[in-house]
Amino acid sequence: MNKKIFAANWKLNKTPDQAAAFAQDFLAKTSEKFFETKEAFIFPQNFSLDKLSQNLKKSPVRFGPQQIHIEVKGAFTGENSLAIAQSIGSTICLIGHSERRQIFSELNSSINKKVLLSQSLDTLPVLCIGESLEQRQKNETLKVCFEQLEAALSAVNLSKRIVVAYEPVWAIGTGQVASLDQVKEVHAELFQKMTSMNFKNFQLIYGGSVKADNAKDLIALDHVDGFLIGGASLEVTSFLDICNFDS
Ligand code: PEP
Repeated sequence: MNKKIFAANWKLNKTPDQAAAFAQDFLAKTSEKFFETKEAFIFPQNFSLDKLSQNLKKSPVRFGPQQIHIEVKGAFTGENSLAIAQSIGSTICLIGHSERRQIFSELNSSINKKVLLSQSLDTLPVLCIGESLEQRQKNETLKVCFEQLEAALSAVNLSKRIVVAYEPVWAIGTGQVASLDQVKEVHAELFQKMTSMNFKNFQLIYGGSVKADNAKDLIALDHVDGFLIGGASLEVTSFLDICNFDS
């Protein structure tokens, strides 16, 4: 059985020292047993990646950038090189978060290039997809998710592991978590879709206002293999309260 995934998206939070303190506290409060059934991922702000790496390198916690450029080197001022992130220990990267799509106009075509790049560097992509409120109200949720999946995963290696995060945009940072029925329906459809696309090694995680009090019910649903967590991942206690849904 797959390990459950708990992925922290810190956005523009945490200085290097705060990231280091989180890492030390998190490791002090988790044991080998924790990592037998669970995976922890952290996506810190870029300036804190190196310090986080120094504190997590010898641990099972995986970390990586929240956003990468489609090329690893060249004249792309202000962009992030996945190869350089990898050189300081990153083994994962977040791709296509809705904030990137909406605020920075990231397109499915460049998201696809990023997934391909991450695969070529043997970095695990965590690909975000999800509908806006307007799209849900128009009954377009599955259409939008499938379109995003198909475009982002065009020509990728079907055997390499990939994590897909279903994040309804209206549930991110709003406190308005999707209902169990909504998550159940979309994850079941995404599972079918990924299977029909011949993916052999994938996990589906949910994101959008996950907290300790809703985590247990959400993770009990079929095809919910973990969470992508924003606000509640900023404190070790609230992050662990979610990770320890089973205790
Ligand atoms: C996110 O940033 O991807 C997210 C799900 O945030 P939150 O948990 O705060 O809704």
